[in-house]
This record gives sequence, C-alpha cells and structure tokens, in this order.
Amino acid sequence: MLNQHFSHRHPLAAATVAEDDGAICSGCELRLSGDAYKCIKPKCEFHLHDLCFSLPPEIHHPSHPKHPLILAGSPPYAGGEFACDACGDLGSGFIYRCPRCQFDLHIHCAALPETVIGKNHGHPLRLVFHYKGKGFCCGVCEGGLGNGCWVYCCGDCDFGVHVDCFVGEDEDEDEEIE
Ligand SMILES: [Zn+2]
Ligand SMILES: [Zn+2]
Ligand SMILES: [Zn+2]
Ligand SMILES: [Zn+2]
Ligand SMILES: [Zn+2]
Ligand SMILES: [Zn+2]
Repeated sequence: MLNQHFSHRHPLAAATVAEDDGAICSGCELRLSGDAYKCIKPKCEFHLHDLCFSLPPEIHHPSHPKHPLILAGSPPYAGGEFACDACGDLGSGFIYRCPRCQFDLHIHCAALPETVIGKNHGHPLRLVFHYKGKGFCCGVCEGGLGNGCWVYCCGDCDFGVHVDCFVGEDEDEDEEIE
C-alpha cells in the first residue's frame, strides 16, 4: 500500500529496514531500522520511522504555551537549517515550530519527557525550559548554558545536565548517534 506524506513528493511504502542498512530517518535525522516508511523510488534515500510518519500536524507544548507548534517537513530558512531552541543544535529534518515567534524544536526535542531518571544521577531530573539559577555547569560536559536553554535539573541538589548530555538508564553511553 502506498502512502503520501506531506513532506515528500514521492509516495512511500511500508518497509522493514535492516539494521546494517545505515538508513537515517529524514524526519528526526536519527538512525532507523525495523518498521519504517520508505520512498518507492530506488534512488531516493527518504525514510521515516513509523512514529515520525504519523506525527500530529500540530501540538501544544509546555515550553511554548502561548501558541500551538506546527509540524513542518523542512526548515523554512535559507540554507535549509534551523537552530533548535531546546538543545541548540542545528537540524535540517522535521521541525515543530511557532511561525509567529520563530520558535523551532527538533521533533525529538519536542518529545523529551518532563521527568527522567538517568545514569548520571540518583534522583529524578526535571525538564527546565528557562534555567533561572546562577551559573549553570553541566554535570556531564561541564559546559555552561549554550544556545539551547533546556536542561534537566535535580530538585534536591545542585545538579543539572544539558538535554543532549543526558543519558538514560538503559542507554549505552558509548553509542553516539551521528
Ligand atoms: Zn524518525
Ligand atoms: Zn522520494
Ligand atoms: Zn533539539
Ligand atoms: Zn509562538
Ligand atoms: Zn553538557
Ligand atoms: Zn539530586
């Protein structure tokens, strides 16, 4: 069965992607294997995770309560990249954005859980969108607040990490996803 997705001009078909394919999801730009959607054109490297294929076109996010965030298939900026307001990294895939405020999020940053338990710290950490404390020092990379402003902080002690430095309990720290 063929599916049309708003972000791509060719039809997509459900497919199973092998782990050693090295495929990258064109939505979240992370590695992809297993159940996915794939462009039917053999030379077109367009893949989407099942989840990225069926993302809601509009969400309400606690980091930006004023306006809904709209799903866009690619950054509307010259150069085709955007800087994520959560992690500060660049992206060129799907975005949740507020067109009125130029507020842009990676889709995986928009999906960050509000409370997490990680390898770095014994207490649960809470997602903070606007860090108000004094000097922030990331418990992993020891860097300060960068372009991205979101951090995971402990409510009990003076501990915080960048959202992209956080390592979950069941994640392998050595596995860097490029
Ligand atoms: Zn994806
Ligand atoms: Zn295609
Ligand atoms: Zn991000
Ligand atoms: Zn807005
Ligand atoms: Zn860090
Ligand atoms: Zn703590």
